[in-house]
Amino acid sequence: MASCQKLLINGRWVEAHSKTQLDVINPATEKTIASIAIANEQDVNDAVDAAKEAFKTWQYVSSDERGRYIEAIVTKLSEKRADMAATISSELGMPIVLSDMVQTGGPLTGMLPYAALAKSMDTQEHIDNSIVIKQAIGVCALITPWNFPLHQLIAKVAPALAAGCTMVVKPSEETPLNAIMFAEILQQVGLPAGVFNLVTGDGETTGNALTKHPDVDLVSFTGSTSAGVNVALNAAPSVKRVCQELGGKSANIISPTAPLEQAISDAIISVMFNSGQTCVAATRVLVHQSQYQQAVDIAKAVTETLIVGEPDNEQSFIGPLCSAKQQQSVLNYIQTGINEGATLITGGLEKPDGLDKGFYVKPTVFADVENDMVIAQQEIFGPVVCFIAYQDIEHAIRIANDSQYGLAAKVWAETQDQAVDIAKHIRAGQITINGGNFNYNAPFGGFKQSGNGREWGAAGLNEFIELKSMHC
Ligand code: NDP
Repeated sequence: MASCQKLLINGRWVEAHSKTQLDVINPATEKTIASIAIANEQDVNDAVDAAKEAFKTWQYVSSDERGRYIEAIVTKLSEKRADMAATISSELGMPIVLSDMVQTGGPLTGMLPYAALAKSMDTQEHIDNSIVIKQAIGVCALITPWNFPLHQLIAKVAPALAAGCTMVVKPSEETPLNAIMFAEILQQVGLPAGVFNLVTGDGETTGNALTKHPDVDLVSFTGSTSAGVNVALNAAPSVKRVCQELGGKSANIISPTAPLEQAISDAIISVMFNSGQTCVAATRVLVHQSQYQQAVDIAKAVTETLIVGEPDNEQSFIGPLCSAKQQQSVLNYIQTGINEGATLITGGLEKPDGLDKGFYVKPTVFADVENDMVIAQQEIFGPVVCFIAYQDIEHAIRIANDSQYGLAAKVWAETQDQAVDIAKHIRAGQITINGGNFNYNAPFGGFKQSGNGREWGAAGLNEFIELKSMHC
């Protein structure tokens, strides 16, 4: 990738002022596949200046034209879909077939509606003697994690463009290559200089400089709760809007009326997907005590059918974890679970068979988990599922809500109405009912310490809007 060590500032790929670099590692081979610049404060200042200058005109570009740019980006990205999927697979480790479907196909689906949503910026509301209009908030800092890197990027870039904002993006240091490729696409469709700027680097140097910058009006941040808190502290002195999409420790309530086999199979597959590195993973599976042993037996059987393997093997369902650091962190949690007295049903600390290289972890199931254990309270972010027994549905709801997080949940019951009734009592932002599909047009975001923002669809656009009242 030609632009890999450069930063995109004001429409040009430029050398970083900083000479420090970071290696990008393929987690399956453990080999360095690229190195990127760590943008320093001077680089960040240049990028923010470019975004500030571009905002003067971009905010007044017609919504039709902004919509056309979004359509052009979708078209170009669709043409490059296979390359993008391979790039994400090489830096993240997700099996290529899944990477194409979820890491690339999904965000394309989510982006297109913003072409039409741009038009909603033109609507005016009349309230008594006042006209209320929508305007773009200004210069946005968009900071993304590594687990669904393009999905997170597009969740922010698409509404920012639709609203008429300009932006500086900092992707995760673990998976920056897809963002560089995406930036090249934005250049190829002729997006005006300075509307989209890309600075690579780490949170410590680049992220801190960006979130403290007085000319940034909004920070949209997706990542861990601890980093999200730091970002909010950085942003507070200049009163930026901060939209946080943070961690989770979601529950999956399997009611006694649910089809048990189907519900447990879905519970396991949905957590193990992307090697458990999914913010909404429902890693606390709550089963009625009368069905508990049967559920654990099904979980063991399903888990042991999942193929852990190299990302380029089309049979693989679980690839490596994203980094050596992530692998070690997950192994530490598995050890903690064993030390806490949870029963290891399958998986564990050994490497999966036949995979000597790569940051792999065996898909792991724990039973006899109490909700106050570390493995039930902290986000493991790996292929680890905890089974917890409950006495009745009220008890299950109390366990589900006994968490600092409130990002997501799943509910399984015999009927949709039964499951929805349970879901209404769970303090979380999105709840999957009886295995329902993800919807890119519905609001996505967390309650409690899982964040305060909403992404995707019209709700995602609202984050980037200021309302202005004109009293006539
Ligand atoms: P991190 O919080 O470590 O990092 C997220 C991003 O923030 C990275 O780009 C990181 O830079 C940057 N960053 C870190 N510290 C700062 C700082 N002080 N100022 C500015 N930027 C900073 O999360 P991970 O990348 O490890 O991602 C996993 C986490 O993300 C999990 O907790 C997961 O639940 C959460 N997540 C939440 C989602 C949601 O929608 N709610 C969706 C996906 C993930 P770098 O890493 O390059 O140093």
